[in-house]
Amino acid sequence: MTEEQLKSNTIDNPELKTNGAVGYSSIDTFLKRVKEKNPGEIEFFEAVKEVIDSVWELLEKHPRYLHTNILERLTEPERVIMFRVPWTDDQGHVHINRGYRVEFNSAIGPYKGGLRFHPSVNLDILKFLAFEQTFKNSLTTLPIGGAKGGADFDPKGKSDSEVMRFCQSFMTELYRYIGPETDIPAGDIGVGRREIGYLFGQYKRLSNEFNGVMTGKSAESGGSLLRPEATGYGLVYFVSEMLQAQNQNLEGQTITISGSGNVAQFAAEKSIHLGGKVVSLSDSDGAIYDPEGLDEEKLAFVKHLKNEKRGRIREYAQKYDVTYLENQTPWNISCDIALPCATENEIGEQDAIALVENGCRCVAEGANKPCQPKAVQVFLENGLLFGPGKAANAGGVAVSQLEMAQNSMHTQWSRSEVDTRLQEIMRNIHSKCITHGEAGGNINYIKGANIAGFIKVADAMLQQGLV
Ligand code: GLU
Repeated sequence: MTEEQLKSNTIDNPELKTNGAVGYSSIDTFLKRVKEKNPGEIEFFEAVKEVIDSVWELLEKHPRYLHTNILERLTEPERVIMFRVPWTDDQGHVHINRGYRVEFNSAIGPYKGGLRFHPSVNLDILKFLAFEQTFKNSLTTLPIGGAKGGADFDPKGKSDSEVMRFCQSFMTELYRYIGPETDIPAGDIGVGRREIGYLFGQYKRLSNEFNGVMTGKSAESGGSLLRPEATGYGLVYFVSEMLQAQNQNLEGQTITISGSGNVAQFAAEKSIHLGGKVVSLSDSDGAIYDPEGLDEEKLAFVKHLKNEKRGRIREYAQKYDVTYLENQTPWNISCDIALPCATENEIGEQDAIALVENGCRCVAEGANKPCQPKAVQVFLENGLLFGPGKAANAGGVAVSQLEMAQNSMHTQWSRSEVDTRLQEIMRNIHSKCITHGEAGGNINYIKGANIAGFIKVADAMLQQGLV
């Protein structure tokens, strides 16, 4: 929406105005309220704070958002589902995990977002991820609301049949709440092809319907081509846009990547295609440093190691005789571009300082909020290009929406058709960040992404009344 449209927008319905008791006079009053209402939820609070910091100026210019208490409405999930997931291991022992689905916001489309299976999963983490997802999905320009779910189950070290039994038990509860027009889960950390297959199979069995209720399915089970590649490729397309805006490109740039899962693998692949030199990958045990850079053959080794053998990245260092940094991250390696693709909060203030001192000029988040707020501050103070996850990693969920579109049309698009659309979407996201984030010749991508994501969701909420 342009500035003019915003001014002339007549959504401002006096009926919905509060009597002032809940209008917030300052950011601090509002954030204090968020903290009180969500005690101990640090991740969620940080995510809210970042968005509010970015949009506050806009709110002050357009008080209808404040009068209608849109902030409090936006920071309260529409629905949270928590459930018991009982399952038995291969020895017949009974285990109980906790399952969740946070259906955060459906103002612009059905709930959409991944499922995470990891021991660190709790309500705080999922509320933060679902809140982020709401703005990320809005930024894609596609009609999808925000959600996230998962369980504190650790697929690491479990047999295929244990994972299958867990997924079946999880879906036996979840299936009541989801549907192709209601809530469409997908993968995230710990939920890949294998898990999606088992989850979808159980949904189909319980509902007796083959439909687009889940995305990230294999091509044989109705998935979109290029969905596995989408987050990593989209990230690199976004980085290319950021560089292009500075009259640069990826050719010859040294790139450090953390993680070695789906996002990291395809971020590395696309970086290599575009002439970049990828010198690191990592997992929770350590990082590899390959100064000559990965190539197609080395990457094929990583894919096999991680996706088929479910092995550790140290095996790469052994096979190719390169440095293995035990229990370390790649952030002390000198690079031009850093792509954190592992998990939240993986780059702290000291890591950020090391990156700056070692010459890094651009950081883009492949994972969801891998950079801690203090690290982001270091990047911005030192004039680095910084691409926040909700913009830079939105390619995954965008192609998920393309999968939904293909499923509802009972068709399958070619790889190149999906790739063309993905590139177009990442270009659009980048230009929205510029529209709303340009200030004095610099681009604040965080501000741009938050404002662009916010306006669409907030306006849709106002149009739909108090629901
Ligand atoms: N988990 C991914 C994300 O963080 C993808 C979600 C989806 O495809 O629904 O955006």
